[in-house]
This record gives sequence, structure tokens and C-alpha cells, in this order.
Amino acid sequence: IGPGIIMQLGQSLSPQMELIRAFQRIFGATMAVVIGLAALIGWFLARRALSGVGGSAQTARRITQGDLAVRAPVSRRDDEIDQLAGNINHMLDRMLELITGIREMSDNIAHDLKSPVTRIRGLAEVTLTTAEHREDYETMAASTIEECDRLLDMINTMLVISRAEAGVQALQWQNVDLAGLVRDAGRLFETIARDKDIEVSITASGSQAINGDARMLQRMVANLLDNAIRYTPRGGRIDIAVQSMPAGVVTMVFEDTGIGIHEKDLARIFERFYRCDRSRSQSGTGLGLSLAQAIVHAHGGSITASSQTGQGSAFTVRLPRNRDKIEEDATDPTTRADGRGETG
Ligand code: ADP
Repeated sequence: IGPGIIMQLGQSLSPQMELIRAFQRIFGATMAVVIGLAALIGWFLARRALSGVGGSAQTARRITQGDLAVRAPVSRRDDEIDQLAGNINHMLDRMLELITGIREMSDNIAHDLKSPVTRIRGLAEVTLTTAEHREDYETMAASTIEECDRLLDMINTMLVISRAEAGVQALQWQNVDLAGLVRDAGRLFETIARDKDIEVSITASGSQAINGDARMLQRMVANLLDNAIRYTPRGGRIDIAVQSMPAGVVTMVFEDTGIGIHEKDLARIFERFYRCDRSRSQSGTGLGLSLAQAIVHAHGGSITASSQTGQGSAFTVRLPRNRDKIEEDATDPTTRADGRGETG
């Protein structure tokens, strides 16, 4: 401020430094507590969220070891993990149902294929040991051909069932006139019905077109009509009606005055290889109605049966006209089971 004189002005920073140090102390301590708490809460939340995953992983391990009855634990929180566990359980139930079905079916197939093969073998053995003339061998060959035809028929029917069960993609879609189809079937079975003195009356005027697989639908109609004729005694009557219903549905009713189906059998007749005791004397494989049901389901429809023993039976088939409707309904299994006597 003058020659050789310097003035220095200053202010002590110690109060501010004190404040900064106090701030650092408090901030450090608070942050330590907050980070500790956050870590604790995070660990707790992660544990809580993953507890269900652990349960599901354990379930998967036990299923791999062969225990198909075990299910993933579901808590009452109803969060995403619970929904996942619920869906896994649902999937496991469905898989168990399918596995049981496949096991039962392969048991039935093995059992039903065994009988004709045993008969063919028995006949060949007897012929080999006892036959003396050429005619004995000819009889054996004729019986073998007959049994083989039966076997082939069963195998072919099973293949068609699995094609129908494969769903919408496996079918050849086109416009099919159900009324015309029933009239054609009526003409085809006319001679057999006449031989048994059975009157077949068909109420199916005009055209009742639906979107479907013509060959499959023909097989279904033929099976129902064939059953009606086979299980109706001489002099009986069969009424078939094809009708248009509201909501784009066509119904076909096959009514007969036949031997009827016992109430306890009614719920099982659609099962593969199931045959009622009273009809065992008749020819048949027990696959006709399973095939009819598989075809109807593949078309998004339903089939039901009602019956009174000794009085007759009625089979009602409902089919949607439009294939688009099927895809919507396919996601809703409740649209299929709609009456007594229907399985699956
Ligand atoms: P099947 O080759 O034995 O006829 P289906 O699957 O067509 O096999 O039928 C299963 C069983 O349902 C038959 O064995 C028969 O006992 C019974 N059934 C089917 N249709 C009729 C009917 N119209 N009247 C009486 N019983 C029937």
C-alpha cells in the first residue's frame, strides 16, 4: 500500500472448516447407515422374491428324479413368482394327465393287439400239428387274413384318431355339406339296414354347409350310423336329423330304437377300446366313438350321448359352421364338454 509496505488481509476459515468436518462426519455416518440398511432391505427383498424360485427349482429336481406328483410351492402373496409357480403346477397337472392317458392307451393297445395276434398264433399252431388236408391250411390262411384285416383296421383307426387329435393343421379344410354327407351315408348303409329290416329315416333337406375335413366328417357320420344299425335289433328304426341352429351351429342327431347303453357305461363309451358288456358279442374294436369324438373336437364341436337301456340311444353332434370360430374356441376348453356321456 506504499513503497515497501504490503498489507495482507485475511479471515480465519476455521469455523467453515469446522462445519465441513461436522458435515463430513454426519454425512459419512448417515451414508454408512443408509447403505447398510439398503443392503439389508435389498438382501431381504431378493431373498423373499427368490424363495419361490428356489422352491420351483427343487420341484424341478424332484420331478427329474421321477416324482411326478410333486408341485411348486405357492405362497399367498400372489406376486409374479407365485403366478409362475401356479403356471408351472398347471402345466405339470396337464402333463401328468397326458402321460397317464398315453400310459393307459399303450396298455389298451398292447392288450387289444395281443388278442388277434394270439388267435393267429394259436390257429397256426393247431393247424401245423393237426392239419391233414389242404383245406385245413386254406381255412387257417382265410382266418389269418380276417384277423390281419381287423388288426389293420384298428391300426388305421388309431392313426386317424391321432391325426384328428393333432388339431386344426392336420385337417384338409373345405366347404362340406353335412346334409348331403348324411344322405350319402344313408344310401351307403341302405342295404345293411334293409337286411336287418331296420327303417332309416333322414331329415336333412337342402344344404348345411360347414367348413371342415370332408373325409373325416364322412368317417364320423359312418361310425355313428354303423353303430346305430349294429346295436339296433331287427325291425328297429333309426332317425337322423341335420338342423341349422342359432350362432352358426349345425346339429346332427342319430337316434335309434336299439339295445341302449347302461348309465354306468354312458360316461365311458367315448374312451378308446371301451365296449359295453352287452355288445361284446358283436364285431367291433371299441374305437369308433373315440374316432368320432376326436373328429368332432378337431372341428371345434361337441358330441353327446343319451340313452335308455332297452329303448334306444341318441347321439348329438354340434359343429360350428365356421373354422375361424374353432380357433377362438380352441383356447376355451369349456366350450367342448357340454353334456352327459361326453368325455375328454
Ligand atoms: P364298437 O366298435 O364296439 O362299436 P364304438 O367306440 O363305436 O366301438 O362304441 C363303443 C361302445 O358303445 C360299443 O361297444 C357299444 O357298446 C356302445 N354303443 C355305441 N353306439 C351305440 C348305440 N347306437 N346303441 C347302443 N350301444 C352303442
